[in-house]
Order: sequence, then structure tokens, then C-alpha cells
Amino acid sequence: MTNERLSPDDGDLYDDEDNLSVPDDVAEAVRTLIRWTGDDPTREGLVDTPKRVARAWREYCQGYAEDPAHHLSRVFEEVGGYDEIVLLKDIPFQSHCEHHMAPITGKAHIAYLPENRVVGISKLARVLHAFARRLQVQERLTAEVADCIWEHLQPRGVAVVIDATHGCMTARGVRTPGVTMTTSRMMGVFRDDPRSRAEVLKLMGY
Ligand SMILES: [Zn+2]
Repeated sequence: MTNERLSPDDGDLYDDEDNLSVPDDVAEAVRTLIRWTGDDPTREGLVDTPKRVARAWREYCQGYAEDPAHHLSRVFEEVGGYDEIVLLKDIPFQSHCEHHMAPITGKAHIAYLPENRVVGISKLARVLHAFARRLQVQERLTAEVADCIWEHLQPRGVAVVIDATHGCMTARGVRTPGVTMTTSRMMGVFRDDPRSRAEVLKLMGY
């Protein structure tokens, strides 16, 4: 389980990221953007900004270096007859929208109804982060998390609900702070059986 320690949820990678060398063309791209927005990239406060920005973006997007399904590869088949919903609620996450590269900040609720196989509960959050740490749209993020669990755990049902605010909406454009967007993906019994769907949504607090 050595890769547990190298998981992006820990701080280890971030130290390495601080030393990550930044190619000249990447730094120059950030200087170009600074110049274009109206500031002087050579002034003292901005001299090291291109490197910091470049490294920050590698960190925001470290999901590209991960296979989300890897987190579901270790399953427990001895579930003691447990056949009720498993729910991980209010998982905070950050992503970035692929249209503006602006922050998407929110909470996810991830549930599944196991059929013989369960995973350590933190693994559901790791799957979420592996997809969130990429350039995303909220609808696809929701679907990718649900599909990954559906495919790799083969449960009787999966429900993923995400509430998030979008920096591209709160800080620019229509500038509407506080507005959240909700997306959901229901699969298996949560899609086909209204009572199961109502039960999982109630557990999630809807
Ligand atoms: Zn956007």
C-alpha cells in the first residue's frame, strides 16, 4: 500500500510541486496573460508569479496523473450480509471549469447500494478528487464519478449529487454570488425504483 502515502490527499506531493521546474514557455504564457490584463509582469510583486501560477495549475490538475478506478481496486467481499445504502455525505471538493478555468467549489454526496462488494469509505472521496482535479464541467464530473463506481464496484445502485458554486458565475459574467448548481446521476435501483431514489435523496438531506 505504498501508493497510499503518495496520494494527492496528503501533503507530500505539494512539497515536490514547489520544486517542480517550470518550462520557459509556460512561464512566458502567464507573463503574456498578466501583460494582457493590464499589469507589468516585470514589477517586483509579479516576478515570481508565473512560476507559482504554473505550479498551482499542476496541483489543481493533478487528477490527470491518476487513474480514478485505481481507488476502487481493493474491495471487501465479506460484508456480513449488509445490504443497505452506503453514503458519504458533504464531501468538499474543488475543481476548475473547462470554459474559464475558474474555480468550481462544492460538496458531493456519493451513495451506492452494495452487492457483495464494498470499498473503504475514503475511496469514494478519492474517486471524486481524481476527477475533480481536472478541467471539468459539473455535469460531466457528476457522471464520471457515478460511472466509475458503477463499473468497478458493480453495485445494485449508485447515486451522486453535487452542489457547487462556479467562479465564472459568481466573480464574472452575471456576478451572482451564492448561487449554487445541483447535478445528479442515478443508476440501477436509484434510477429505476422511485422508493429507493426517495430514500437515498432523503439520506442526503434533500
Ligand atoms: Zn466557467
